[in-house]
Amino acid sequence: MVSFYSLYYYYVILFFYSFNHIYWKGGEHMKRIIILGVLFFIGLLIVSPVSAEGEKIVCIDPGHGGNTGAYNAMYNLWEDEIVLDISYRLKALLEPAGYQVGMTRTDNTNKSNGDRYNYCNSINADILLSAHINGSNNPDIDGSMALYFDGDDKILAQTIYNVMYPTLRDDPRVQWGFTNFGLTKFASGVLIKSNMPAALMEPVLMSYNPEALLLVDMSNTSRRQMITQTYFDGIINYFANYSGGSGGNPGKGKP
Ligand SMILES: [Zn+2]
Repeated sequence: MVSFYSLYYYYVILFFYSFNHIYWKGGEHMKRIIILGVLFFIGLLIVSPVSAEGEKIVCIDPGHGGNTGAYNAMYNLWEDEIVLDISYRLKALLEPAGYQVGMTRTDNTNKSNGDRYNYCNSINADILLSAHINGSNNPDIDGSMALYFDGDDKILAQTIYNVMYPTLRDDPRVQWGFTNFGLTKFASGVLIKSNMPAALMEPVLMSYNPEALLLVDMSNTSRRQMITQTYFDGIINYFANYSGGSGGNPGKGKP
């Protein structure tokens, strides 16, 4: 939007220069055209800031980094690499849909919790989605979980979870029990100190080998893409219902 506004103000200045010139030299007809032009620009001034405010900022936090987090030895899969890939996939869906996207890390370097929430706060993000893949000491379980801390975190986490869990459970490739672990209150640094509603998503358990095998696939019909799509759909639902949408909840900020 910044470049659009620079260009716009340039045109406004240009217009008033020509206005000065033509108004005093032109006839009655020219004066009418100029007055219509002025009214048009005033109209633009009223309308433009509304569309700028409508552009939501999503801060994506790919968890871990530097080969930390969960690891599946059978398929040599690291959580941090999968969630970075999913974060880029999410960015690729959000930006063409008119969202601004920031990412707390863009390569596989680990970041502190402070780096993460400070970054999301500095870009005035409307929401924060922390992307993780779960791991367990019990290699026989698979399922979804979401973490929240306070304020509107829970609404955000629940809205995304409502799309994520049933979609991943009903994936025809999943021929096993897919547990609904639901929402858990969790005092993670990223969730506590972020100024915007923040949710930490744990879509699947990569310690369950059949699930890990699905996560190996990086195609457009992959499990990774399906997880990403549920984040995207959940975010769309959140903004439609809780943040300046028909639901009327401001959605921004925490008590
Ligand atoms: Zn994690």
